[in-house]
Amino acid sequence: MSSTDKPDKPAIVPRSPAHWQSSLSHAFEKPSQLREFLALPGEETATSEHGFRLRVPREFAALIDKGAPRDPLLRQVWPLTDEGRAQPGFSADPVGDRAARRAPGVLRKYHGRALLMLTSACPIHCRYCFRRNYPHDAPLLTARAMEEALMAIRGDASISEVILSGGDPLMADDERLAALIARLDAIPQLRRLRIHSRMPLVIPARVTEELAALLQRSRLPATLVLHANHARELAPGVAAPLARLRSAGITLLNQSVLLRGVNDDGDALTALSERLFEHGVLPYYLHLLDRVAGAAHFEVEEAQARQLVADMRRRLPGYLVPRLVREIPGQASKTPI
Ligand SMILES: *Cc1c(COP(=O)(O)O)cnc(C)c1O
Ligand code: SF4
Repeated sequence: MSSTDKPDKPAIVPRSPAHWQSSLSHAFEKPSQLREFLALPGEETATSEHGFRLRVPREFAALIDKGAPRDPLLRQVWPLTDEGRAQPGFSADPVGDRAARRAPGVLRKYHGRALLMLTSACPIHCRYCFRRNYPHDAPLLTARAMEEALMAIRGDASISEVILSGGDPLMADDERLAALIARLDAIPQLRRLRIHSRMPLVIPARVTEELAALLQRSRLPATLVLHANHARELAPGVAAPLARLRSAGITLLNQSVLLRGVNDDGDALTALSERLFEHGVLPYYLHLLDRVAGAAHFEVEEAQARQLVADMRRRLPGYLVPRLVREIPGQASKTPI
């Protein structure tokens, strides 16, 4: 549109995209480009995306070893042809989200906590994701849907914690988050705010000073739950962003998914906990895989999972051993294994 249409009104100057937004727009979205960047041998990386597109920010791609088709970081994002094999027991909505919907973007499954899904978009597409078969690039909740969501939260006196989720809630920019959090601050029964995001690890520049400041300003104590599955995701570039969040008084936790070929050995899990602690992050959950169609090749048997956690317990202080859980639809909490 031309700015000469209405010469009497000030032109709306688009703000220059923040560094993190430009990172997002330069993410790898074609397997052929990523294969070339990583010098991957073609035979071992045959691919088929099955409706869930590849997306890998360059910051994350830089952490993957070159020429290594079995790299544990690559495996989380590379669409193997295995995704196309139907497996009994693996379905499109394995965690029963549909039944927990209270308003647009609001899921209320567990006592006292409501999940507010700001967007279905993510900076990275994780092949094991239980949302992989949902629409994946829907925009942020519209203003109207957000009003309905906030009304549903305000109207439920039992809710004391709002969990911003998605997709990845840090796809929303700081201005939008600040406005939302101000609204949440004004809901009297709320006592805590939580954010689940992979952003600080996959595009560390997303942790702007403004993000830390707006979380610090809120009357609600904030917790950020990172989703790292492997120690190498906590590269040197995340040290400063995580320190910035800690200085703003934000509690940092991590949850992982136990994934075959990524972190299904005692050394990898122990190294992850040690590395998290070095960055002031405590391990929270280790999830068994949600049995979503397309992710069967990631599954680790429950018996092996128990052994792995027993191994961690022998090697680590108790506070560095995550709780092993599974999400079972209809249960009142995540189910400890
Ligand atoms: C996992 C989850 C939560 C949070 O559970 P915690 O055990 O408190 O971490 C809340 N709501 C939904 C819908 C969830 O899936
Ligand atoms: S960032 Fe989270 S929601 Fe997005 S694809 Fe990965 S696991 Fe799924």
